[in-house]
Amino acid sequence: MINLFGKVIVVTGAARGQGAAEAALLAKHGATVIAVDSRSAPGCLPLDVTDADQWTALTTELRDTHGQVDGLVNNAGVTWRARLDEVEPRDFARVHAVNVTGPLLGIQHLAPLMPPGSAIVNIGSTAALTGHYPVAYTASKWALRGLSKAACLELGPRGIRVNTIHPGFIDTEMTASADPAFRAANVRETPLGRTGTVHEVAPLVAFLLSDAASYITGAEIAVDGGLTAHGGVKSLSDALRADGPYS
Ligand code: NAD
Repeated sequence: MINLFGKVIVVTGAARGQGAAEAALLAKHGATVIAVDSRSAPGCLPLDVTDADQWTALTTELRDTHGQVDGLVNNAGVTWRARLDEVEPRDFARVHAVNVTGPLLGIQHLAPLMPPGSAIVNIGSTAALTGHYPVAYTASKWALRGLSKAACLELGPRGIRVNTIHPGFIDTEMTASADPAFRAANVRETPLGRTGTVHEVAPLVAFLLSDAASYITGAEIAVDGGLTAHGGVKSLSDALRADGPYS
């Protein structure tokens, strides 16, 4: 049983999707959850992760009310499905601001409030492990991996752990807006043969924030039904499977 009693944990992008599920599960495990989002939602404080002043205000409030912060989930993210030949630099920068600068600001502001034993979880993507075609999103999530590694190095001596989760295709409003062909192709490439749910990502977030993960830092864990495990050769196996055993 994961125990998060006594821990104050900030979850960004918690108004819906994976962030909402993570916030709910962390609270169920006993954490005091500070849910924030740029979109208004019941139980969520307003915070745009790209705005340093808003992080400063939240930090002051948390220092005054709780004295410390024990966990941060950098979950807020946006996608932009333009391909290499059509992406605009301003969109590239906008996606980077939310997906990379947002987590940077969160870490910079909250780490000073974190005692030894605290943990940060960054939500990457299988796009950070592959050459996924939406180039702004893919580049931003690869950059988040770099930020996570540097943060692991810098914060380790203070007893603060930093890990990254890479979800595959998870059913949320983000993926609902994708072309149905994208969903079908993902399912074809996924050994488990289906998409994932927010409830299959949140437990790993809870575990990584808990003391049960006390020696895990700098790790990257895919929650993707095996999508990135086969290195692109599932289609070879599938093509031959129909011809019978050992074909
Ligand atoms: P979602 O669109 O359902 O939720 C994202 C949330 O982030 C929203 O509530 C949104 O308002 C919030 N947000 C966006 N910009 C923000 C900002 N500037 N400041 C604060 N909040 C902001 O998406 P989701 O599927 O739940 O995605 C959550 C995370 O998981 C994202 O980082 C996403 O890139 C990542 N991810 C999702 C999938 C998937 O298949 N759904 C796969 C891999 C990674």
